[in-house]
Amino acid sequence: MAQQRRAQRFNDLAEAVLGGTADDVRRMTADGTHPDDRDEINDPTPLMIAAARGQLDVVEVLVSAGADVNALAEDFTGELDQFPFLDDLFAESRLTAMTALAYAALYGQEQVFHYLAPRTAPSLRQEAEALRQAKAAHPDVVPRPYLEPKKPKSAREADRAKLLASSAAARKWVVQCPLCQKQGYKPGMPDEIDRRGTAAQIRKLFQPLILEACLCPQCCDKSAKAMQKIQAKLQAPQAVKARQQAEARWQKRLEEMRREGRREPD
Ligand SMILES: [Zn+2]
Repeated sequence: MAQQRRAQRFNDLAEAVLGGTADDVRRMTADGTHPDDRDEINDPTPLMIAAARGQLDVVEVLVSAGADVNALAEDFTGELDQFPFLDDLFAESRLTAMTALAYAALYGQEQVFHYLAPRTAPSLRQEAEALRQAKAAHPDVVPRPYLEPKKPKSAREADRAKLLASSAAARKWVVQCPLCQKQGYKPGMPDEIDRRGTAAQIRKLFQPLILEACLCPQCCDKSAKAMQKIQAKLQAPQAVKARQQAEARWQKRLEEMRREGRREPD
């Protein structure tokens, strides 16, 4: 068994849910991995992870393999810190634990929610419903995907961040495009900016960057093209005709009102 598991692509079922396909998950459960396989008794189950990520096909495979839709979890991944309304729900006991259905509600995975709802125990369904309403009342909370691996910073990116954090002179000469986050140094930077060789370090780590109207050349170009597109649309014969017709209707209406001796609107 251990031999067999070592030969597999994934160390455990959670990993297969995160990095594999429904087929990978099906194969592992068929090979004997328990569908509710988790390290600690309170950890989120593979089903919860799939529900949070909206992977309906994986959810179906796990449920078919006998995953417990009423399993409970306490989530210590830190992923739920992004939902400010969760604390209140727990404090008011409207939510007592996380379930697969609760994850689907929290992450707005409607298809998974509708699949799991009729399979979930009524009291837990009620809790997930409360969660779903709280989520709907906070449209500003747009969650990042559950357990999405964070991209590691490259060594160069780390060096850049370190230099900017440690040197006010560097922060003065390095600019950033607010749209694409690209960073570079102002081309007018002298050879020496703090007598500590920081300018040379900046030249080693960054490229020169000219911001026009706050934007880098690429973003400037893109926004100019977008403006051109809008202008072209406004000048299109159809748009011009529609405007003329609307104005003509308005003139006609004004004349009617004048004839009837009514006051003209603004
Ligand atoms: Zn840009």
